[in-house]
Amino acid sequence: MAVFLLDKPLFLHILTQLRDAKTDQIMFRKGMVRLGRLIGYEIANHLDFDIVKVVTPLGVEAKGVVIRDLDNIMIVNVLRAATPLVEGLLKAFPAAKQGVVAASRKEVESSSPPTEMEVQITYMKFPRISRDDIAIIADPMIATASTMMKILDMISQLRPKRMIIASVIASEYGITKIRNKYPDVDIFTVSIDPEINNRGYIVPGLGDAGDRSFG
Ligand code: URA
Repeated sequence: MAVFLLDKPLFLHILTQLRDAKTDQIMFRKGMVRLGRLIGYEIANHLDFDIVKVVTPLGVEAKGVVIRDLDNIMIVNVLRAATPLVEGLLKAFPAAKQGVVAASRKEVESSSPPTEMEVQITYMKFPRISRDDIAIIADPMIATASTMMKILDMISQLRPKRMIIASVIASEYGITKIRNKYPDVDIFTVSIDPEINNRGYIVPGLGDAGDRSFG
């Protein structure tokens, strides 16, 4: 598994706006959409490609690149927080098929940070995919990775060629948990935050991504 830390200034500029408690709902959603687009382009830069030749209007051959997998993408929207992130990812992958998972965590205050959270999956629907398809699972916040592990368990049964996670902030703990069970999954994230608090939130994090997008 590779972790791609997207820490160039533009990513961090947008992440800083998202972290800021003063950023309102509309600006928060817009920031998520922008990050989704940028993360999508980074993922596209790590897909398989072929070197091809084309003939330009001048009748001259030019060497070029065709990214083989651009038409073989399924994006999984982990409702509801991932919705604006997916809107951005779709700018990078306009031909993507889309899957949906409605997942909610049972949040309880405990005396120490949870290592596992109870996750309820109330709805899921995936398009038919082939063994050539790449599944991009979009979830802006990976804390204990309890939700993500369930989703990876489901998606891996569809036998995609590759599974990629598109996230904005992941905890160190969550990344390790995913790496242990799914060593081939790639994670693209803008930040790796060090802590999870007693309610299962990433610290410093950005709060509840679903609430901040949708109130
Ligand atoms: N989900 C969120 O929205 N925020 C967190 O910090 C953790 C999970």
